[in-house]
Amino acid sequence: MFVFKNINHLEHHLNKKRAEGQSIGFVPTMGALHQGHLSLIKKSLEANHYTVCSIYVNPTQFNNKKDFETYPQTIDADVKLLLDTGCNVLFLPSTNEMYASSLDVAEINYGSITNNYEGALRPGHFNGVVAIVKKLFTITNPDAVYFGQKDLQQCLVINKLIETEFPKIKMNIVDTIRETNGLAMSSRNMRLTSTQKDIAVNLSKALFYAKQEILSGGPIDQTIENAKLIFLMDSNFRLEYFDLINMETMEKETTLNTKNKYALIIACWCADVRLIDNVLLTE
Ligand code: AMP
Repeated sequence: MFVFKNINHLEHHLNKKRAEGQSIGFVPTMGALHQGHLSLIKKSLEANHYTVCSIYVNPTQFNNKKDFETYPQTIDADVKLLLDTGCNVLFLPSTNEMYASSLDVAEINYGSITNNYEGALRPGHFNGVVAIVKKLFTITNPDAVYFGQKDLQQCLVINKLIETEFPKIKMNIVDTIRETNGLAMSSRNMRLTSTQKDIAVNLSKALFYAKQEILSGGPIDQTIENAKLIFLMDSNFRLEYFDLINMETMEKETTLNTKNKYALIIACWCADVRLIDNVLLTE
């Protein structure tokens, strides 16, 4: 596996691969890799000649300083996992390399997709995400990119970015990988104690319960309220949202229409760690 820290060197390397007719798949991450990340890499390896993974903890997408400062960094273990998975290139830039002199980023407004939920609760988050993803897409110039459904709203934002600015890139959304007990894998899980991890499983339990009830005709609002009462009353939890949304718009919905696609989405603090998860109502 090649490791690049320098943009020009990576561009030069990938230009050569492209000139040889190799297709390039790209997987952006913030490291502290787990099986969820590796599933994106594996999808890319299956569908492209050459796979690039980036690891960069992007400061501009953190609205919370403590979250940024405590974000797990496990680079030696990450390199080993990438080697074992067969990744071709790791891009490991510094902040100086990615932002030169200024951390200012442009304001992004895709309407409700950037303004609702994560956009409202984490002001500036999607501005930072779009800024770094644009830079990374421009540097790697990939044929295909891989993002996790775990960050559903981020997927909608990236879909919009690709549609408006990178129409040649093929977007792939990859299913959420879970622990055997249902907890969605996340780098932030490393910050939970084992007791908190056991409690955090209830986020996925609440989602799966509500999905099943709604698909069997249960009333949406009442079902979500019941799921909160059954699964989310632990004093370690502080729920931020638990809603059914329209997957085109990220708008809350209270009735179903066969024309639309829906997901149940949840964000909840478990002690001082913020977790998000979601399930699609129908595939
Ligand atoms: P992150 O390092 O958290 O920025 O995540 C990098 C990519 O991995 C994003 O596209 C995430 O949606 C994806 N990802 C994170 N957790 C999972 C998971 N449990 N299953 C599948 N993809 C994931």
